[in-house]
Amino acid sequence: MLDSFGRKINYVRVSVTDRCDLRCDYCMPLDNKNFIKKKEILTIQNLITISKGLIYLGIKKFRITGGEPLIRKGIRDYIEFLNTQKNKKNLEEILLTTNGTQLSNYAEFLFKNNVKRINVSLDSLDSNKFSLITNGGLLTNVLKGIKKASDLGIKIKINTVLLKDVNDDEIIDMVKWCSSNNFKLSFIEVMPIGDTLKKRKDQYLSVEFAKKIINQNFGLIKSNHKTSGPSKYFECKDVKLIVGFISPISNHFCSTCNRLRVTSNGKVFPCLGDNGSKDLVPYLKAGQEIQLRKILSNVIFNKPEKHYFDINKKSYIKERFMNTTGG
Ligand code: SAM
Ligand code: SF4
Repeated sequence: MLDSFGRKINYVRVSVTDRCDLRCDYCMPLDNKNFIKKKEILTIQNLITISKGLIYLGIKKFRITGGEPLIRKGIRDYIEFLNTQKNKKNLEEILLTTNGTQLSNYAEFLFKNNVKRINVSLDSLDSNKFSLITNGGLLTNVLKGIKKASDLGIKIKINTVLLKDVNDDEIIDMVKWCSSNNFKLSFIEVMPIGDTLKKRKDQYLSVEFAKKIINQNFGLIKSNHKTSGPSKYFECKDVKLIVGFISPISNHFCSTCNRLRVTSNGKVFPCLGDNGSKDLVPYLKAGQEIQLRKILSNVIFNKPEKHYFDINKKSYIKERFMNTTGG
């Protein structure tokens, strides 16, 4: 359906858990005090009820995210539900964003259930640096999962958050590695979502920096490649690679935003960069599915025009970290 600015909203990102087996320091604090209470986490059945409402309203693409979606208990049931909807042609695509730690165990299941394109978040190819960024993550484990998924025929896009003085020296390596493995690659600007210990402006690097380095080394030409996400894609002339740049700070893409988000405690956010949300739990508890659809349709219609991120200021989103709404 259309929102009040005429944007077609057909894409949802469902955060099935806010828990994670890593602690990327730009995502959430090590001692995150804002995890959702266990008793408030929706059952898979409730996630399915919300998803049915969204499908009714014309949402065609579902991206499963988190926290780490593959550690959510019951995730297989939810993915199987989405696959049934896809087989009935109620959905166009089931997508997943994962940190890759559990991918070895899930790759076959994902492939069988029509999850044929996944985003794997990977900010470094250096195991020490990877461990530092993620607070203890094991790079070899993630690489093993990526290989398994790719060997099965799942298309991989690597998402790399650009971090000043941390991984800005790995842009060329990332391009070469993705190209040689036939993956796509996107660079993302860090967003001021949640107050972490570090100042966002000390972490932030514009994607223009990566674009310049890649252009100098491999040559970039605009690509017609399009997805339903916010990446602007280019082709590298000298290596075989589609590379995208996601620029929520330096050049926001709100006028073409087609998304809304659902959190694992049943809140629907029409905009990642806005504090406004609607709580769906009362309608779930009362079994009011028709009312729930009306609420969802109101939220879609009233989606804010844009976000107001300012990397130089304290975030106006304080207690919600990216692990809550996912990406
Ligand atoms: N755990 C999964 C993963 O890492 O892919 C899914 C959830 S994670 C929150 C989704 C994406 O958000 C990841 O690509 C991560 O790098 C990105 N992300 C987390 N915090 C961010 C921030 N403050 N700014 C920009 N991207 C962020
Ligand atoms: Fe976990 Fe993903 Fe956040 Fe890293 S970015 S801490 S993997 S939710």
